[in-house]
Amino acid sequence: MESSAQQEVDALIVGAGFAGLVTAERLSNELGWTCAVVEQRDHIGGNAYDYYDDAGVLVHKYGPHYFRSNSEKIVEYLSQFTDWHPVEYRVKSYTEGRYWNFPINLNTFEQLIGRASDAEEFRQWMEDTREKIDDPKNSEEVITSQVGKDLYEKFFKGYTIKQWKKHPRDLDPSVCGRIPIRTNRDDRYLRESFQALPADGYTALFENMLAATPGLELRLGTSLDQAKELFRWKHLVYTGPIDAYFDHCHGPLPYRSLKFQHQSFNAEQLRDREAIAGKPGHWQPEMQVNYPSTEVDFTRIVEIKHATGQDTSNSTIVKEFPADFEETGEPYYPVPTDDSKALYQQYKTLAEAETNTSFIGRLGTYKYYNMDQVVGMALKEAEKICKTYA
Ligand code: FAD
Ligand code: UDP
Repeated sequence: MESSAQQEVDALIVGAGFAGLVTAERLSNELGWTCAVVEQRDHIGGNAYDYYDDAGVLVHKYGPHYFRSNSEKIVEYLSQFTDWHPVEYRVKSYTEGRYWNFPINLNTFEQLIGRASDAEEFRQWMEDTREKIDDPKNSEEVITSQVGKDLYEKFFKGYTIKQWKKHPRDLDPSVCGRIPIRTNRDDRYLRESFQALPADGYTALFENMLAATPGLELRLGTSLDQAKELFRWKHLVYTGPIDAYFDHCHGPLPYRSLKFQHQSFNAEQLRDREAIAGKPGHWQPEMQVNYPSTEVDFTRIVEIKHATGQDTSNSTIVKEFPADFEETGEPYYPVPTDDSKALYQQYKTLAEAETNTSFIGRLGTYKYYNMDQVVGMALKEAEKICKTYA
């Protein structure tokens, strides 16, 4: 309802994650627009938010966020707001009582057969062992078509069932297909050419972005519904869940959630872990250890200090327990199945009919996007808005 007390802004932006803040920065600096950003949480940064905990350790509040990108344009854009701390993200998988090299590579194969080998032997083994499927249609096939059933069951089946509460057979190939499988000894978790963390953390990056955004009004602890009372706008940029925007009129889209259990250790406690961690001041051997076995409820333990390189005698680990959305109310992951894609299309049709409104981000487009992809999407959308209103 319109009232004279409402503040007039050019853009109302819902959500202060990468999608919202990048769009606000661009519209403010390209069009000279006044932008109001409303965020229902009490902090900026969306799921990429990080902070120093009571032990003085920089932690990623909503699970580990490993920045990576193949796009020079996106890295260049973000470099205006941060320096980078280069990291080669490394992970191990713990199952059957031992740490395995992961993602699957020649070192993993050598662990499996218990002797030295080479890329040629591993390639031949994969060819003999893999399921002969040329066009994998789901997350089970995308792995078994490369390495066969045994390695799929060892590393992927249990993890995926815990994480998604669905059989890999019922999930889009892109879910497990994200994980590389290599015949050489390259054991980096990710494929992208640029891999680094913001040198002072994500929250510092976002603060620098806000400082470079004139005419921006930020309201934390404010939802879209509350913002409707406070503002009048020319254009709305919505980065929350698309089904919530339309009051779930076609039924709720499925989301998967997580619960995080943080645990801090001081120098003395870490001394007992030195033999396992392989270096002082750390709790585990790599920044992330995956636990594919269904004998434990969690999927991974992250010790982000390995990646940030923070020089502190304390350390903090975070265990991730998959959870139903209904349990936490936090829609972390869109669930990519045929049914959810069809339901999303119904909401997308409604979104396209909305005037002067953009739906972007992981939740606004219901897609399992990484941060760099969301930044790319926000830059594109901002360009489109600039053209429309120029
Ligand atoms: P979000 O960061 O979710 O921000 C949306 C914001 O909108 C939220 O802060 C929310 O509170 C707010 N909001 C929603 N609805 C409303 C409303 N009605 N009113 C007001 N505010 C609202 N990406 C990587 O590149 N590398 C990784 O390693 C990585 N790891 C991840 C690990 C986990 C556990 C998760 C969940 C995601 C991970 N991601 C990773 C993905 C990354 O978090 C997203 O790509 C990115 O944060 C998306 O940004 P966004 O702005 O679209 O959404
Ligand atoms: N996955 C798995 N075993 C692993 C790691 C990943 O089965 O050890 C599967 C799982 O389904 C997971 C997906 O691959 O959801 C993508 O993994 P990633 O580590 O990229 O997950 P994210 O960081 O996005 O949660």
